[in-house]
Amino acid sequence: MQRAAQPDVTAALERACTALRERALPVTLQRRALLEAFLGRTDHPTVDTLHADVGRAYAGINRATVYRTLETLVELGLASRVAQTGSACRYDPCVERHHHLVCERCGTIEDLFDAQFDALRAPRPPSGFAVRDFSVLFRGLCARCARRRSKAHYDA
Ligand SMILES: [Zn+2]
Ligand SMILES: [Zn+2]
Repeated sequence: MQRAAQPDVTAALERACTALRERALPVTLQRRALLEAFLGRTDHPTVDTLHADVGRAYAGINRATVYRTLETLVELGLASRVAQTGSACRYDPCVERHHHLVCERCGTIEDLFDAQFDALRAPRPPSGFAVRDFSVLFRGLCARCARRRSKAHYDA
């Protein structure tokens, strides 16, 4: 079963603002705009993507603020980092269990909600590694890149 993520931005925004205030991070207009922009997204933006987006409306916002806010949300359990080595960290405002489809060509990351993968049993590795959480990450080509590739194939 698959469904599209429909983030409830208003509720998430209030939760995030309250949590940040409790951590003594003032919820300035800029930071609120940043939260609003981030919590409504499903494309797993990097610090730079978000900084560029919010910077269009709030020119004063600096990259360190974006970074610190996102990292604080992660610490508070209100966002997560999508595990991806070798490229800029991607942040995810959806903390419900879900999985990811990563396009190796364009870097798009799609959410996948699928009860079958939610139900995977976490292993107990012999190394003694204690699993806290898990999600499944599939690599491949997004529909757009796959179309482009087959078109290139025919054109050749
Ligand atoms: Zn792609
Ligand atoms: Zn996600």
